[in-house]
Amino acid sequence: MSTEKTLRVAICGGGISGLCLAVALSQHEHIKVDVWESAERFKELGAGLMVFARTWRIFQLLGLEANFSAATHTKPDPSVGYQFRRSDLGEEGFGWHFVPFPYGCRTFHRAHFLDVFVDGLPPNIVHYGKRLSSYKQDETTAEIILNFTDGSCATCDLLVGCDGIKSTVRKQMFSTMAQREAKPEFLNFVDPKWTGTIAYRGLVPATRLVGPGGERHRTLDSPVMYCGKNQHLVAYAISRGEMVNVVAYLTDPSKENTVPDSFDWVADCDREEVLQTFSSWESEAQVLLNNMQNPTKWNIHKISPLPNAVDGRVVLLGDALHAMGPHLGAGATTAIEDAFILAILLGATSSPDTLDLALAAYEEIRLAQANHIQHLSDEAGHMFELNSSYRERLDDLGPAIARQWSFLADTTPDDEAKRALDYRFRLLNSSDLAWS
Ligand SMILES: Cc1cc2nc3c(=O)[nH]c(=O)nc-3n(C[C@H](O)[C@H](O)[C@H](O)COP(=O)(O)OP(=O)(O)OC[C@H]3O[C@@H](n4cnc5c(N)ncnc54)[C@H](O)[C@@H]3O)c2cc1C
Repeated sequence: MSTEKTLRVAICGGGISGLCLAVALSQHEHIKVDVWESAERFKELGAGLMVFARTWRIFQLLGLEANFSAATHTKPDPSVGYQFRRSDLGEEGFGWHFVPFPYGCRTFHRAHFLDVFVDGLPPNIVHYGKRLSSYKQDETTAEIILNFTDGSCATCDLLVGCDGIKSTVRKQMFSTMAQREAKPEFLNFVDPKWTGTIAYRGLVPATRLVGPGGERHRTLDSPVMYCGKNQHLVAYAISRGEMVNVVAYLTDPSKENTVPDSFDWVADCDREEVLQTFSSWESEAQVLLNNMQNPTKWNIHKISPLPNAVDGRVVLLGDALHAMGPHLGAGATTAIEDAFILAILLGATSSPDTLDLALAAYEEIRLAQANHIQHLSDEAGHMFELNSSYRERLDDLGPAIARQWSFLADTTPDDEAKRALDYRFRLLNSSDLAWS
């Protein structure tokens, strides 16, 4: 392939999904990549993130394995998994299930995780302080015009909306389609909806979790899921073992799809509030809550599963496409796989003329899978809070929870990449389709 830049891709948003895509696309010489980020710098929360072997395989294929290894203390250990405990019945809880992850899982501080992508970016492709306000698809040239809130404009052959759960790109895509196709139901996909769940998030220094005699809190050595009715708490070590990431959830199932009553999206919170909320919980969970640094509280939102990922030369990826409940730890990893597949398809697309084929293949391979994982993740949230059809039948619930993660091993990223390229190839050779 020539080294001439024949395809101009604009990525709106420099979070995990946008930066992963930028790194993957930059490996193809014919693609000109620009990242348009509204903030003045890249930023991630002071919180944790977990990835599984499937995502690790993508890092290997992108040549990022060594850098990600250097950013975590965790190893691919098949004995690693979640310990599930019943924790809301007083001071003493009990373990009731162990869900191993094939080849283990790796945990990260989010900022260290994002830094690996930032370090992998070529120079001069990021434009900070650029908030996309709207886009326009030129019907004659098929070019996309991007408009930013500061009054400036840019053009591209393909716009990828990686702008997160409140995506401006998704908002315009579905508002436009609702009007153009006279389908008001598309407006249902514009805004995120509250799940009825609040998440209290914070980090605990590992030094606070080692007793005078050297006894170690369980979470220093294994991820733990503490479960109770309408509440659960997840904790695992990050930052090379120096911190434990804690997220404690409280759900009011009757409030799903309503408007949050006490705060909008995120707020600082008092440790007392967290302790009060979990006051009847087992003591080892309370130790975590008692030592959380600067806790914040989040109203957890999600979007309805989308019917499209693509409209013309505009495509959605990451939370813009599938913002889901965080319960399987699958939002960012699904975004990374979206980026990997889209980059493979665009890598095989040498000019805008055949872009539609790549986008049709991306939608075919990723949309159903993203919606499937979103459904599994939401269901997992109900299971962890004893609100699924299994209720409190822990013997049945344990294996059912393990099955929620089975999508990780159903296929491999290599298989999915091949499936995507095959699909594109079939379209290319289909005499029935009049691709331009
Ligand atoms: C409590 C919790 C725990 C989680 N744990 C895990 C986990 O363990 N594993 C996992 O895989 N996932 C996890 N997730 C999900 C994961 O955090 C998200 O899926 C992921 O961060 C989404 O990345 P993104 O790049 O798509 O969106 P974002 O991170 O939201 O990035 C969007 C970017 O776009 C920019 N932007 C927004 N609008 C515009 C605009 N108009 N113009 C230009 N730029 C714009 C923003 O500034 C931002 O940089 C968790 C989520 C929560 C809430």
